[in-house]
Amino acid sequence: MPYEDEFAHYKPLKRVSESAQVKALLARAQVKINSPAPVLLKTIALADLKPSGWISDFVLAVDGSMAEVPVKNGYPSAAVGYVTVASVLLDVAKMMRLDAQRPADPKEFRTIQNAESIDAALPGSNVVVDNELNAVGSFRRALFELFQSKRVSENGESLLDTYEALLKYKPVSDRQKCPHGEDCLRPDQNYQRGDSEYTCSCLQARSLFSTDALRIHESMKPEGSNQSVLTQTMSVLERVWVVHFLRTLEQEKLLPVLQRLAIVLDGPLAVFDDPAWLSSSIKSELSRINDAAKQAIHDDKFEMLLCGIEKSGAFMEHLTELDKGPDGESDALPRQTAMLLTDDYIKQRIIFSTSDREYGRNTYFGRKVFYKAASGALIVLNLPFLNDSHKDLKRAEVNQFPRLADTMSLLDKLVSARYCNAVTPIISAHAEAAIPMNLGKRVLEKLARQLMAEAAKAKA
Ligand SMILES: [Zn+2]
Repeated sequence: MPYEDEFAHYKPLKRVSESAQVKALLARAQVKINSPAPVLLKTIALADLKPSGWISDFVLAVDGSMAEVPVKNGYPSAAVGYVTVASVLLDVAKMMRLDAQRPADPKEFRTIQNAESIDAALPGSNVVVDNELNAVGSFRRALFELFQSKRVSENGESLLDTYEALLKYKPVSDRQKCPHGEDCLRPDQNYQRGDSEYTCSCLQARSLFSTDALRIHESMKPEGSNQSVLTQTMSVLERVWVVHFLRTLEQEKLLPVLQRLAIVLDGPLAVFDDPAWLSSSIKSELSRINDAAKQAIHDDKFEMLLCGIEKSGAFMEHLTELDKGPDGESDALPRQTAMLLTDDYIKQRIIFSTSDREYGRNTYFGRKVFYKAASGALIVLNLPFLNDSHKDLKRAEVNQFPRLADTMSLLDKLVSARYCNAVTPIISAHAEAAIPMNLGKRVLEKLARQLMAEAAKAKA
């Protein structure tokens, strides 16, 4: 009888809710009132955007997952974390053919689980590897080695190289403490940034890693759950992986494939918590790569199609509310319509704030737009900042959202009506059209072949 168990939990809850201090705090909390001039959403129909008819040949979908698993090593509450980042290249034409043929087979979800390109175990509480002094040291080493060991192309740069390129954008003037903390003999006990693996300049000369600058290890708890460490790690890996993929394309002189490729990332275009500084680095790097792509393609106006898709959270909740009509039934919003969000709208209606600082200023490298797809699916979409004008959240103009119309058309094709509001099933439902990214070089070659074939066709 789970109900009785739950009731046991509610007793203290009842006591808390009746407490005078709790009541006083709730009385002080501001309640949302409809302001005299409510901010309106700027909506725009796909038809008004004059869609170009462009459809990508490939979609690179990146999605991570993680789990904390107890292990038996003789110490209590020992755990390791598993983090996987699946990146799958989908052949859009093949996908659409399959869709027309028959309903997608749910068992294909398993196929995709084998397609991950990053699959790692990281030490959690009470797990110490090799000669490391403690769990934190073990985690730091494992994280560094993970970055070092992954690359899209055998001859290309490693994920660590990509990370270190992003690290170069980070201002030096920050006060990060040496990960050895009290054990460091330097008077200031400050972390000294460096590349790869190196040693602290103090007499202890203990190992430091470039990946220590992510500061994820600072959230690590010696006892108990380290869920937040895993969430941060997964989110960083997903986002750095996208940059890694783009930089590899650049190094292999394959940037023109971005004309035929869309990149879909699970979650917002943002980095939160300790590694949040990455967000600004990713913003700079995406804009640099986009400029390089413009040159490679000889098109000044080119913008890459990259989007993040949120499955849950306050924005999704708000969008779901908006779609409820006066009678509480869903489907009030018009289909194939985007809603462009401004800072004012977000602060008044979604994330309550009276601050002058723009929403997400230090964490986002893109901005949000709501989309209701042709199927009726509701999507919280993020599109990247590729230049400074995109970043102005005071305004919400169509030209501040790179490739908005193409993204809307693409989502109409990708979001299946069978799955409520979900784009992640792009990955699972269409596994048959997928090429596992851990084939590395071969994927790039396939892309190159496709591109060359198209170029040859255009010339003929
Ligand atoms: Zn030291």
